[in-house]
Amino acid sequence: MNRYRLILPVLALSLLAAHWLRLGNFGLAASLAGLAGLLFTRQAWLRPVAVAALLWGGYVWAEAVVDIVSIRLVLDQPWLRLAGIMSGVILLDGLAMASLLGERSEGWFDRDREWAWPRAAMFSLTIACLAFARNKVGFPILLADRYLPGWGWSEIFLLGFYAQWVGSHMRTPLGHRRFRPRIWGLFSALFFLQLALGLLGMDRMLMTGTLHLPVPAMIAAGPVFRGGGFFMLVLFGVTLVLVGPAWCSHLCYIGAWDDALSRLKARPVAVRASRRLSLWGRGTTLLLTVGAAWGLRVLGLPGVSAVLFGAAFGLVGVGVMLYFSRKRGMMVHCAEFCPIGLVGNILGRVSPWRIRIGADCIQCGACVPRCRYGALDGERLALGRPALSCTLCGDCVSACSDNQIGYAFPGLSKRTARTAFIVLAVSLHAVFLGVARI
Ligand code: SF4
Ligand code: SF4
Repeated sequence: MNRYRLILPVLALSLLAAHWLRLGNFGLAASLAGLAGLLFTRQAWLRPVAVAALLWGGYVWAEAVVDIVSIRLVLDQPWLRLAGIMSGVILLDGLAMASLLGERSEGWFDRDREWAWPRAAMFSLTIACLAFARNKVGFPILLADRYLPGWGWSEIFLLGFYAQWVGSHMRTPLGHRRFRPRIWGLFSALFFLQLALGLLGMDRMLMTGTLHLPVPAMIAAGPVFRGGGFFMLVLFGVTLVLVGPAWCSHLCYIGAWDDALSRLKARPVAVRASRRLSLWGRGTTLLLTVGAAWGLRVLGLPGVSAVLFGAAFGLVGVGVMLYFSRKRGMMVHCAEFCPIGLVGNILGRVSPWRIRIGADCIQCGACVPRCRYGALDGERLALGRPALSCTLCGDCVSACSDNQIGYAFPGLSKRTARTAFIVLAVSLHAVFLGVARI
Protein backbone atom coordinates (compact mmCIF):
# COMPACT_ATOMS: atom_id res chain seq x y z
CA MET A 1 0.00 0.00 0.00
CA ASN A 2 1.36 3.43 -0.80
CA ARG A 3 0.41 6.70 0.84
CA TYR A 4 -2.22 7.46 -1.80
CA ARG A 5 -4.33 4.70 -0.38
CA LEU A 6 -4.68 6.79 2.74
CA ILE A 7 -6.81 9.21 0.72
CA LEU A 8 -10.11 7.61 1.73
CA PRO A 9 -9.41 7.38 5.49
CA VAL A 10 -7.94 10.89 5.55
CA LEU A 11 -10.90 12.28 3.62
CA ALA A 12 -13.43 10.52 5.86
CA LEU A 13 -11.71 11.72 9.04
CA SER A 14 -11.44 15.26 7.63
CA LEU A 15 -15.16 15.32 6.83
CA LEU A 16 -15.90 14.20 10.37
CA ALA A 17 -13.57 16.94 11.67
CA ALA A 18 -15.41 19.51 9.53
CA HIS A 19 -18.74 18.30 10.95
CA TRP A 20 -17.57 18.95 14.53
CA LEU A 21 -15.95 22.23 13.53
CA ARG A 22 -19.33 23.37 12.17
CA LEU A 23 -20.88 22.44 15.52
CA GLY A 24 -18.26 24.52 17.42
CA ASN A 25 -16.42 21.54 18.94
CA PHE A 26 -12.95 22.80 17.97
CA GLY A 27 -11.12 20.32 20.19
CA LEU A 28 -12.78 17.29 18.60
CA ALA A 29 -12.28 18.72 15.10
CA ALA A 30 -8.56 19.29 15.80
CA SER A 31 -8.23 15.78 17.30
CA LEU A 32 -9.75 14.10 14.24
CA ALA A 33 -7.58 16.18 11.92
CA GLY A 34 -4.57 15.25 14.08
CA LEU A 35 -5.49 11.56 13.85
CA ALA A 36 -5.73 11.85 10.05
CA GLY A 37 -2.24 13.42 9.98
CA LEU A 38 -0.79 10.75 12.28
CA LEU A 39 -1.75 8.00 9.80
CA PHE A 40 1.26 9.09 7.72
CA THR A 41 3.62 8.05 10.53
CA ARG A 42 2.87 4.37 9.71
CA GLN A 43 2.59 3.44 13.40
CA ALA A 44 0.62 0.18 13.62
CA TRP A 45 -1.39 1.21 16.71
CA LEU A 46 -3.10 3.94 14.67
CA ARG A 47 -4.83 1.46 12.39
CA PRO A 48 -7.32 0.01 14.94
CA VAL A 49 -7.73 3.50 16.44
CA ALA A 50 -8.65 5.00 13.04
CA VAL A 51 -11.05 2.11 12.33
CA ALA A 52 -12.76 2.72 15.69
CA ALA A 53 -12.96 6.46 14.97
CA LEU A 54 -14.56 5.79 11.58
CA LEU A 55 -16.99 3.29 13.11
CA TRP A 56 -18.06 5.95 15.57
CA GLY A 57 -18.13 8.45 12.67
CA GLY A 58 -20.64 6.22 10.84
CA TYR A 59 -22.88 6.35 13.90
CA VAL A 60 -22.50 10.16 14.10
CA TRP A 61 -23.47 10.56 10.44
CA ALA A 62 -26.43 8.16 10.72
CA GLU A 63 -27.71 10.07 13.74
CA ALA A 64 -27.30 13.36 11.85
CA VAL A 65 -29.26 12.01 8.86
CA VAL A 66 -32.15 10.90 11.08
CA ASP A 67 -32.22 14.26 12.88
CA ILE A 68 -32.09 16.41 9.76
CA VAL A 69 -34.63 14.32 7.81
CA SER A 70 -37.04 14.33 10.79
CA ILE A 71 -36.82 18.12 11.07
CA ARG A 72 -37.39 18.57 7.34
CA LEU A 73 -40.36 16.22 7.40
CA VAL A 74 -41.92 18.18 10.25
CA LEU A 75 -41.33 21.45 8.37
CA ASP A 76 -42.63 19.85 5.19
CA GLN A 77 -39.38 20.64 3.36
CA PRO A 78 -37.63 18.52 0.69
CA TRP A 79 -35.29 15.97 2.25
CA LEU A 80 -34.50 13.36 -0.41
CA ARG A 81 -31.45 15.12 -1.93
CA LEU A 82 -29.95 15.82 1.46
CA ALA A 83 -30.49 12.21 2.57
CA GLY A 84 -28.76 11.08 -0.64
CA ILE A 85 -25.72 13.29 0.03
CA MET A 86 -25.47 12.13 3.64
CA SER A 87 -25.76 8.50 2.54
CA GLY A 88 -22.78 9.16 0.28
CA VAL A 89 -20.82 10.42 3.27
CA ILE A 90 -21.71 7.27 5.23
CA LEU A 91 -20.65 5.17 2.24
CA LEU A 92 -17.31 7.02 2.13
CA ASP A 93 -16.87 6.36 5.84
CA GLY A 94 -17.52 2.64 5.28
CA LEU A 95 -15.12 2.48 2.31
CA ALA A 96 -12.43 4.21 4.36
CA MET A 97 -12.88 1.61 7.08
CA ALA A 98 -12.73 -1.22 4.56
CA SER A 99 -9.56 0.28 3.10
CA LEU A 100 -7.91 0.37 6.55
CA LEU A 101 -8.97 -3.19 7.30
CA GLY A 102 -7.67 -4.51 3.99
CA GLU A 103 -4.48 -6.56 3.67
CA ARG A 104 -2.62 -3.82 1.82
CA SER A 105 -3.19 -1.43 4.65
CA GLU A 106 -1.29 -3.82 6.92
CA GLY A 107 1.78 -3.23 4.78
CA TRP A 108 1.57 0.53 5.33
CA PHE A 109 1.18 0.38 9.10
CA ASP A 110 4.40 -1.51 9.63
CA ARG A 111 5.99 0.35 12.56
CA ASP A 112 5.93 -1.30 16.00
CA ARG A 113 3.42 -4.00 15.11
CA GLU A 114 4.34 -5.98 18.17
CA TRP A 115 2.87 -3.39 20.53
CA ALA A 116 0.11 -2.14 18.25
CA TRP A 117 -2.76 -3.46 20.37
CA PRO A 118 -1.42 -2.41 23.78
CA ARG A 119 -0.72 1.10 22.46
CA ALA A 120 -4.13 1.32 20.80
CA ALA A 121 -5.70 0.06 24.04
CA MET A 122 -3.93 2.70 26.18
CA PHE A 123 -4.93 5.46 23.79
CA SER A 124 -8.55 4.28 23.58
CA LEU A 125 -9.00 3.53 27.30
CA THR A 126 -7.65 6.94 28.29
CA ILE A 127 -9.88 8.69 25.79
CA ALA A 128 -12.97 6.66 26.74
CA CYS A 129 -12.52 7.29 30.50
CA LEU A 130 -11.87 11.02 30.09
CA ALA A 131 -14.76 11.49 27.65
CA PHE A 132 -17.07 9.62 30.04
CA ALA A 133 -15.95 11.72 33.03
CA ARG A 134 -16.29 14.94 31.02
CA ASN A 135 -19.85 14.06 29.98
CA LYS A 136 -20.98 12.86 33.39
CA VAL A 137 -19.63 15.64 35.61
CA GLY A 138 -21.80 18.73 35.77
CA PHE A 139 -18.89 21.22 35.59
CA PRO A 140 -15.81 21.42 33.35
CA ILE A 141 -13.30 19.00 34.84
CA LEU A 142 -10.61 19.46 32.19
CA LEU A 143 -8.30 22.47 32.29
CA ALA A 144 -8.65 22.99 28.52
CA ASP A 145 -12.42 23.38 28.91
CA ARG A 146 -11.86 25.97 31.64
CA TYR A 147 -9.30 28.09 29.85
CA LEU A 148 -10.28 27.46 26.20
CA PRO A 149 -13.98 26.57 26.02
CA GLY A 150 -14.65 24.15 23.18
CA TRP A 151 -11.12 22.70 23.24
CA GLY A 152 -11.61 20.02 25.93
CA TRP A 153 -11.35 17.21 23.39
CA SER A 154 -7.89 18.33 22.35
CA GLU A 155 -6.69 17.71 25.93
CA ILE A 156 -8.35 14.29 25.89
CA PHE A 157 -6.64 13.46 22.58
CA LEU A 158 -3.24 14.65 23.83
CA LEU A 159 -3.55 12.63 27.04
CA GLY A 160 -4.50 9.54 24.99
CA PHE A 161 -1.44 10.11 22.83
CA TYR A 162 0.71 10.59 25.93
CA ALA A 163 -0.61 7.31 27.43
CA GLN A 164 0.38 5.21 24.42
CA TRP A 165 3.77 6.95 24.28
CA VAL A 166 4.51 6.27 27.95
CA GLY A 167 3.24 2.69 27.65
CA SER A 168 5.46 2.03 24.66
CA HIS A 169 8.47 3.01 26.80
CA MET A 170 7.35 0.70 29.59
CA ARG A 171 6.96 -2.42 27.47
CA THR A 172 10.05 -4.07 28.93
CA PRO A 173 10.56 -4.66 32.66
CA LEU A 174 13.63 -2.40 32.51
CA GLY A 175 11.70 0.36 30.74
CA HIS A 176 8.95 0.05 33.36
CA ARG A 177 11.50 0.34 36.15
CA ARG A 178 13.07 3.44 34.62
CA PHE A 179 9.89 5.23 33.52
CA ARG A 180 7.63 4.58 36.52
CA PRO A 181 9.37 6.98 38.94
CA ARG A 182 9.46 9.69 36.28
CA ILE A 183 5.80 9.61 35.32
CA TRP A 184 4.78 9.20 38.96
CA GLY A 185 6.88 12.22 39.93
CA LEU A 186 5.46 14.20 37.00
CA PHE A 187 1.91 13.48 38.15
CA SER A 188 2.67 14.53 41.72
CA ALA A 189 4.45 17.71 40.57
CA LEU A 190 1.50 18.72 38.35
CA PHE A 191 -0.99 17.87 41.09
CA PHE A 192 0.72 20.13 43.64
CA LEU A 193 1.50 22.84 41.07
CA GLN A 194 -2.21 23.12 40.29
CA LEU A 195 -3.00 23.25 44.00
CA ALA A 196 -0.39 25.99 44.57
CA LEU A 197 -1.63 28.05 41.61
CA GLY A 198 -5.21 27.59 42.82
CA LEU A 199 -4.30 28.80 46.31
CA LEU A 200 -2.48 31.78 44.77
CA GLY A 201 -5.73 32.91 43.17
CA MET A 202 -6.04 30.93 39.92
CA ASP A 203 -9.38 29.41 40.96
CA ARG A 204 -9.77 27.45 37.76
CA MET A 205 -6.80 25.28 38.77
CA LEU A 206 -8.90 23.85 41.63
CA MET A 207 -11.47 21.15 41.00
CA THR A 208 -14.48 22.67 42.77
CA GLY A 209 -13.06 25.30 45.10
CA THR A 210 -13.89 23.12 48.11
CA LEU A 211 -10.44 22.39 49.50
CA HIS A 212 -9.40 19.29 51.36
CA LEU A 213 -6.07 18.17 52.70
CA PRO A 214 -3.81 16.36 50.23
CA VAL A 215 -2.97 13.72 52.83
CA PRO A 216 -3.82 10.15 51.73
CA ALA A 217 -5.01 9.17 55.23
CA MET A 218 -7.89 11.61 54.70
CA ILE A 219 -9.26 9.36 51.95
CA ALA A 220 -10.61 7.13 54.74
CA ALA A 221 -10.77 9.59 57.64
CA GLY A 222 -12.43 12.47 55.72
CA PRO A 223 -15.73 10.69 54.99
CA VAL A 224 -15.84 9.37 58.58
CA PHE A 225 -15.59 12.93 59.93
CA ARG A 226 -17.91 14.56 57.37
CA GLY A 227 -20.36 11.66 56.99
CA GLY A 228 -20.13 12.19 53.22
CA GLY A 229 -17.78 13.22 50.43
CA PHE A 230 -17.00 9.76 49.12
CA PHE A 231 -15.48 10.83 45.79
CA MET A 232 -11.83 10.05 46.67
CA LEU A 233 -12.88 6.83 48.40
CA VAL A 234 -14.73 5.70 45.27
CA LEU A 235 -11.79 6.69 43.03
CA PHE A 236 -9.40 4.77 45.29
CA GLY A 237 -11.80 1.77 45.28
CA VAL A 238 -11.97 1.74 41.47
CA THR A 239 -8.17 1.62 41.23
CA LEU A 240 -8.10 -1.23 43.77
CA VAL A 241 -10.45 -3.27 41.60
CA LEU A 242 -8.56 -2.49 38.38
CA VAL A 243 -4.91 -2.66 39.46
CA GLY A 244 -4.92 -3.87 43.07
CA PRO A 245 -2.48 -2.04 45.36
CA ALA A 246 -0.76 -0.27 42.42
CA TRP A 247 -2.25 3.04 43.61
CA CYS A 248 0.74 3.06 45.97
CA SER A 249 3.30 2.56 43.20
CA HIS A 250 1.85 4.45 40.23
CA LEU A 251 -0.96 6.83 41.19
CA CYS A 252 -0.72 8.43 44.64
CA TYR A 253 0.28 12.09 44.72
CA ILE A 254 2.27 11.68 47.98
CA GLY A 255 3.78 8.25 47.40
CA ALA A 256 5.91 9.74 44.60
CA TRP A 257 7.72 11.84 47.25
CA ASP A 258 8.54 8.76 49.29
CA ASP A 259 9.76 7.02 46.15
CA ALA A 260 12.00 9.96 45.18
CA LEU A 261 13.46 10.32 48.69
CA SER A 262 14.10 6.59 49.08
CA ARG A 263 16.02 6.63 45.78
CA LEU A 264 18.55 9.04 47.25
CA LYS A 265 20.16 5.95 48.71
CA ALA A 266 21.30 3.65 45.93
CA ARG A 267 21.26 0.47 47.98
CA PRO A 268 18.15 0.00 50.14
CA VAL A 269 18.64 -1.34 53.64
CA ALA A 270 15.77 -3.42 54.99
CA VAL A 271 15.45 -3.94 58.74
CA ARG A 272 13.82 -6.93 60.36
CA ALA A 273 11.15 -4.85 62.08
CA SER A 274 9.85 -3.55 58.72
CA ARG A 275 7.66 -6.57 58.04
CA ARG A 276 5.92 -6.25 61.41
CA LEU A 277 5.55 -2.47 61.03
CA SER A 278 3.99 -2.85 57.58
CA LEU A 279 1.04 -4.48 59.35
CA TRP A 280 1.07 -3.23 62.94
CA GLY A 281 2.56 0.20 62.32
CA ARG A 282 0.10 1.04 59.56
CA GLY A 283 -2.71 -0.72 61.43
CA THR A 284 -2.08 1.64 64.34
CA THR A 285 -2.09 4.77 62.16
CA LEU A 286 -5.28 3.54 60.48
CA LEU A 287 -7.02 3.16 63.85
CA LEU A 288 -5.61 6.49 65.00
CA THR A 289 -6.76 8.52 61.98
CA VAL A 290 -10.17 6.91 61.50
CA GLY A 291 -10.76 6.79 65.27
CA ALA A 292 -9.79 10.46 65.67
CA ALA A 293 -12.08 11.48 62.80
CA TRP A 294 -14.95 9.59 64.39
CA GLY A 295 -14.19 11.03 67.84
CA LEU A 296 -14.07 14.61 66.51
CA ARG A 297 -17.38 14.07 64.79
CA VAL A 298 -19.07 12.57 67.87
CA LEU A 299 -17.78 15.45 70.00
CA GLY A 300 -19.18 17.89 67.44
CA LEU A 301 -15.86 19.73 67.10
CA PRO A 302 -15.54 22.16 64.17
CA GLY A 303 -13.91 21.18 60.87
CA VAL A 304 -10.82 23.26 61.65
CA SER A 305 -9.84 20.81 64.41
CA ALA A 306 -9.97 17.94 61.91
CA VAL A 307 -7.91 19.97 59.43
CA LEU A 308 -5.28 20.67 62.11
CA PHE A 309 -5.14 17.02 63.10
CA GLY A 310 -4.88 15.91 59.45
CA ALA A 311 -2.18 18.49 58.69
CA ALA A 312 -0.16 17.40 61.75
CA PHE A 313 -0.45 13.75 60.67
CA GLY A 314 0.64 14.68 57.14
CA LEU A 315 3.67 16.59 58.46
CA VAL A 316 4.75 13.64 60.60
CA GLY A 317 4.54 11.54 57.42
CA VAL A 318 6.78 14.00 55.56
CA GLY A 319 9.22 13.78 58.47
CA VAL A 320 9.20 9.97 58.19
CA MET A 321 10.07 10.26 54.49
CA LEU A 322 12.77 12.85 55.01
CA TYR A 323 14.46 10.98 57.81
CA PHE A 324 13.77 7.24 57.55
CA SER A 325 13.07 6.71 53.81
CA ARG A 326 16.05 8.81 52.75
CA LYS A 327 18.34 7.15 55.27
CA ARG A 328 17.31 3.55 54.60
CA GLY A 329 16.55 3.79 50.89
CA MET A 330 13.22 2.08 51.64
CA MET A 331 9.72 3.50 51.25
CA VAL A 332 9.27 3.62 54.99
CA HIS A 333 6.41 6.13 54.84
CA CYS A 334 4.33 4.04 52.45
CA ALA A 335 5.22 0.58 53.70
CA GLU A 336 5.23 1.25 57.46
CA PHE A 337 3.35 4.48 58.22
CA CYS A 338 0.60 5.40 55.75
CA PRO A 339 -2.77 3.82 56.68
CA ILE A 340 -4.04 4.00 53.11
CA GLY A 341 -1.07 1.89 52.04
CA LEU A 342 -2.30 -0.88 54.36
CA VAL A 343 -5.88 -0.54 53.10
CA GLY A 344 -4.54 -0.77 49.53
CA ASN A 345 -2.46 -3.84 50.31
CA ILE A 346 -5.37 -5.67 51.97
CA LEU A 347 -8.35 -4.60 49.85
CA GLY A 348 -6.20 -4.63 46.69
CA ARG A 349 -6.41 -8.40 46.93
CA VAL A 350 -9.91 -8.22 45.43
CA SER A 351 -8.07 -7.63 42.18
CA PRO A 352 -6.44 -10.80 40.80
CA TRP A 353 -3.10 -9.15 39.89
CA ARG A 354 -0.19 -10.66 41.79
CA ILE A 355 3.59 -10.88 41.70
CA ARG A 356 4.63 -14.53 41.64
CA ILE A 357 7.99 -16.26 41.85
CA GLY A 358 8.47 -19.31 39.62
CA ALA A 359 9.27 -22.81 40.86
CA ASP A 360 12.62 -22.68 39.05
CA CYS A 361 13.82 -19.67 41.06
CA ILE A 362 17.35 -20.46 42.24
CA GLN A 363 16.99 -17.99 45.15
CA CYS A 364 20.02 -15.97 44.14
CA GLY A 365 18.40 -12.92 45.77
CA ALA A 366 19.11 -10.50 42.89
CA CYS A 367 15.56 -9.15 43.08
CA VAL A 368 15.54 -8.60 46.86
CA PRO A 369 17.42 -5.25 46.97
CA ARG A 370 15.19 -3.92 44.18
CA CYS A 371 12.18 -3.93 46.48
CA ARG A 372 11.88 -0.64 48.34
CA TYR A 373 8.57 -1.76 49.90
CA GLY A 374 10.27 -4.49 51.96
CA ALA A 375 8.19 -7.24 50.37
CA LEU A 376 11.02 -9.57 49.35
CA ASP A 377 13.54 -11.63 51.29
CA GLY A 378 14.84 -15.20 51.26
CA GLU A 379 11.77 -16.47 53.10
CA ARG A 380 9.35 -14.91 50.60
CA LEU A 381 11.39 -16.26 47.66
CA ALA A 382 11.05 -19.75 49.10
CA LEU A 383 7.29 -19.21 49.50
CA GLY A 384 7.01 -18.06 45.87
CA ARG A 385 5.27 -14.75 46.59
CA PRO A 386 6.14 -11.35 48.06
CA ALA A 387 4.87 -10.11 51.42
CA LEU A 388 1.70 -8.09 52.03
CA SER A 389 3.47 -4.76 51.41
CA CYS A 390 3.98 -5.51 47.67
CA THR A 391 2.40 -2.77 45.54
CA LEU A 392 2.99 -4.37 42.12
CA CYS A 393 5.58 -1.68 41.35
CA GLY A 394 7.43 -4.08 39.03
CA ASP A 395 10.95 -2.97 40.02
CA CYS A 396 11.96 -6.54 40.89
CA VAL A 397 10.90 -8.02 37.54
CA SER A 398 13.87 -6.78 35.51
CA ALA A 399 16.34 -8.11 38.13
CA CYS A 400 15.77 -11.77 37.27
CA SER A 401 17.75 -12.96 34.27
CA ASP A 402 15.74 -16.20 34.30
CA ASN A 403 12.37 -14.47 34.15
CA GLN A 404 11.27 -16.23 37.34
CA ILE A 405 9.57 -13.28 39.02
CA GLY A 406 6.77 -11.39 37.34
CA TYR A 407 3.14 -10.36 37.09
CA ALA A 408 0.47 -13.03 37.26
CA PHE A 409 -3.21 -12.97 36.39
CA PRO A 410 -5.43 -16.07 36.24
CA GLY A 411 -5.63 -17.49 32.72
CA LEU A 412 -2.95 -15.20 31.25
CA SER A 413 0.66 -16.00 30.43
CA LYS A 414 3.28 -14.08 32.40
CA ARG A 415 4.02 -11.88 29.40
CA THR A 416 0.38 -11.09 28.61
CA ALA A 417 -0.35 -10.43 32.27
CA ARG A 418 2.44 -7.84 32.44
CA THR A 419 1.31 -6.18 29.21
CA ALA A 420 -2.31 -5.99 30.40
CA PHE A 421 -1.18 -4.58 33.76
CA ILE A 422 0.89 -1.88 32.04
CA VAL A 423 -2.07 -0.98 29.81
CA LEU A 424 -4.34 -0.48 32.84
CA ALA A 425 -1.79 1.29 35.06
CA VAL A 426 -0.64 3.70 32.34
CA SER A 427 -4.20 4.50 31.22
CA LEU A 428 -5.16 5.26 34.84
CA HIS A 429 -2.08 7.45 35.20
CA ALA A 430 -3.01 9.47 32.08
CA VAL A 431 -6.62 9.82 33.27
CA PHE A 432 -5.38 11.00 36.69
CA LEU A 433 -3.18 13.60 34.97
CA GLY A 434 -6.32 15.00 33.37
CA VAL A 435 -8.75 14.96 36.28
CA ALA A 436 -6.93 14.52 39.60
CA ARG A 437 -6.79 17.88 41.31
CA ILE A 438 -8.10 19.34 44.52
S1 SF4 B 1 1.16 4.32 51.17
FE1 SF4 B 1 -0.01 6.24 51.41
S2 SF4 B 1 1.34 7.87 50.70
FE2 SF4 B 1 2.24 5.92 50.04
S3 SF4 B 1 1.50 5.65 48.00
FE3 SF4 B 1 0.05 4.57 49.30
S4 SF4 B 1 -1.56 6.05 49.83
FE4 SF4 B 1 0.17 7.17 48.96
S1 SF4 C 1 7.90 -7.45 45.33
FE1 SF4 C 1 8.50 -6.51 43.37
S2 SF4 C 1 6.58 -5.64 42.58
FE2 SF4 C 1 6.27 -6.05 44.77
S3 SF4 C 1 6.76 -4.11 45.77
FE3 SF4 C 1 8.63 -5.36 45.78
S4 SF4 C 1 9.75 -4.73 43.93
FE4 SF4 C 1 7.63 -4.00 43.72
